[in-house]
Amino acid sequence: MRLSRRQVIGHSLLGSLAGLVPGRARGDETPKGPAKPRGIVFMVSDGMSPGVLPLAEAFSQQTRKRSTHWCGLLTTDGVSHGLMDTASADSLVTDSAAASSAWSSGKRIPNGQLNLSAEGKKLESIGETLVAHDCLLGLVTTATVTHATPAGFAATSTDRNAEDSIAPQYLNRAEIILGGGSVFFDPARRADKRDLAADFRAAKYEVLRTRSDLLASKGDRLLGTFSESHLPYSIDRSQDPVLQKDVPTLAEMSGIALERLLARDRPFLLQIEGARIDHAAHLNDIAGLLHEQIAFDDAIGTVLELLADRDDILVVITSDHGNANPGLNGTGAKYAQTNSHFARIAEATCSHERLLARWAEKPGDAAAMSELIAASLGVKVEEKEAAAIIDVIAGKPVPEWSHQLANPPGILGQIAGNHYGMGWTGISHTADPTLLTATGPGATRFSGLIRNDQVRGILLDLFGI
Ligand SMILES: [Zn+2]
Repeated sequence: MRLSRRQVIGHSLLGSLAGLVPGRARGDETPKGPAKPRGIVFMVSDGMSPGVLPLAEAFSQQTRKRSTHWCGLLTTDGVSHGLMDTASADSLVTDSAAASSAWSSGKRIPNGQLNLSAEGKKLESIGETLVAHDCLLGLVTTATVTHATPAGFAATSTDRNAEDSIAPQYLNRAEIILGGGSVFFDPARRADKRDLAADFRAAKYEVLRTRSDLLASKGDRLLGTFSESHLPYSIDRSQDPVLQKDVPTLAEMSGIALERLLARDRPFLLQIEGARIDHAAHLNDIAGLLHEQIAFDDAIGTVLELLADRDDILVVITSDHGNANPGLNGTGAKYAQTNSHFARIAEATCSHERLLARWAEKPGDAAAMSELIAASLGVKVEEKEAAAIIDVIAGKPVPEWSHQLANPPGILGQIAGNHYGMGWTGISHTADPTLLTATGPGATRFSGLIRNDQVRGILLDLFGI
């Protein structure tokens, strides 16, 4: 007997990972069911360094007394495991645009572009290929829907930031588009004044602006933008009843997208991105990052629950690149203070983004900074630490040896890290291979070391294209 997806869910909730199948090694029975999937869910924890998985597991155990779904899959029969080699065409370290383009087009391209070769030749995105073969594409993200990762699946651009020009490319190419970025569909905010939302409505998309709209939606075709820019950080949403009412979670968006695609009788690819794990890593914001990773894991749980009684859908879970490689350092004699330092992360109630914005609105002296950090992050920093943050924000030179960390996010992350036991390598993407987990028909194609530019070929082969 191998664990079904339903058992995986119960398994994770119980938090007892190995006990359900005593004496049985992983993968010792070949999964039954179809060899090729009818649909593929491709889940991306953007900018997730490999060490984030055990940190999120420890955080989940500490705050929710249960395991994460992703860790549950690591001890489940029939689940494949691998690593993703993430380089781009011009760097050992990729950005999200080149990474997503490699998955989508099958070619490594220079950083900063979408589906354009180093020579400037247009490459076919997987979204274009799927539409040409009567398959459906869904894009779900916590960033703007036109941000680099979803855009790589369906758009071409010389500049990943040209989101005004990426948005119209989704029309009749992606069936479901959910995330942030309403300004790119708004005639009052677009440079060309085009009423793009009206164009989507005319093409039979339901255009959604709030969580209530999403929960009440009935259509097959959805364009949902629940914020002008990226969706708020989960940690900030958790403290704000208005955001909780108006902005859906990644799990809610993922569940509705998957239900709509399953209800149709065509093959589909659903890309789901937890985008702000990356953003929190750029800000060295460990509490913000772990709350985002847990929200991504909740989306994994929703997907697995919906697929519990099916054997025709492949789920692939990975990341496009590492970012800043957060790691828990042992602290105290015999590392005895490590756990209590880590436990302080759960006391944070505010993202670093919001903390720095609050400071910009109402700056003050070192005591005021210390107070703000205590109220936001749950740690009491020393006066000299608070003074150093103020100096860096003011652009004053401070003693530092890591040029990566000589900026407000870097100095704040280091100083908060003194109190959490957390260290960071910098504030940028890293070259590390990322984790790769797959379950369902074709999952074994994602075991071992996979280059990011091999993904398109595997996905299309599994679709029979
Ligand atoms: Zn990034």
